[in-house]
Amino acid sequence: MDDRTAKGNAAREAYLRQLGWREFAAHLLYHHPESPERALRPEFAAFPWRTDPEALRAWTQGKTGYPLVDAGMRELWRTGWMHNRVRMVAASFLVKHLLIRWQEGAAWFWDTLVDADLANNTLGWQWVAGCGADAAPYFRIFNPVLQGEKFDPAGDYVRRWVGELSGLPEQWIHQPWNAPAAIREKAGVGLGRTYPHPIIDHDAARERALAAVKSIKR
Ligand SMILES: Cc1cc2nc3c(=O)[nH]c(=O)nc-3n(C[C@H](O)[C@H](O)[C@H](O)COP(=O)(O)OP(=O)(O)OC[C@H]3O[C@@H](n4cnc5c(N)ncnc54)[C@H](O)[C@@H]3O)c2cc1C
Repeated sequence: MDDRTAKGNAAREAYLRQLGWREFAAHLLYHHPESPERALRPEFAAFPWRTDPEALRAWTQGKTGYPLVDAGMRELWRTGWMHNRVRMVAASFLVKHLLIRWQEGAAWFWDTLVDADLANNTLGWQWVAGCGADAAPYFRIFNPVLQGEKFDPAGDYVRRWVGELSGLPEQWIHQPWNAPAAIREKAGVGLGRTYPHPIIDHDAARERALAAVKSIKR
């Protein structure tokens, strides 16, 4: 089989897989009409979600201090669309780093996505939050820096949507807070001034999230 045909087949299969997810989402919503509001896994009714309007606002505005998350949220606000990979990272950040209810995130996506779809949005958020059918295990917590370095290695996506970071070399674009002060200064990046400090430390957030999920398992 020549290369072109092989590539075509792979793309067709990937597309079919996505359509499979869509049908699965529609199936779930049909059988669980309460799922846009209620977790499919009952133990999540006791999950210790936090109420933090300031953090929620920073997330919606793309001002969390985590460049990949901020790029995705700003792309969403400006275009009404966001790539699936960034939807997963941004959603995971809200429910696991900030411990804010997935329903809040789902409502924001519902209001801002041009492809907003009740079944797909519900499946996506419950999958990320670990409370849905066939969901990602809760302890799988996306690291926004590692995700950025893997899926946006040169930082082009971040430079496009978070212009204030565009002067940073690719080594630091996903973690400006770790860049030497001289490099930040040269790039015109003033943390807390031109771009926010990280709203929460990744490791601390991870520990808190794991403790939270343990509390509902007991
Ligand atoms: C937190 C979160 C929220 C989401 N909210 C929505 C939403 O409101 N509306 C929506 O259509 N998709 C949603 N998705 C799924 C997915 O991100 C989008 O369908 C996809 O990014 C749209 O881009 P595309 O049309 O280029 O998709 P392609 O990759 O070209 O896929 C083609 C079609 O398959 C379907 N599809 C693809 N991925 C998924 C998926 N993971 N789940 C269900 N169906 C899928 C969609 O209908 C899509 O148009 C969400 C994903 C997450 C993680």
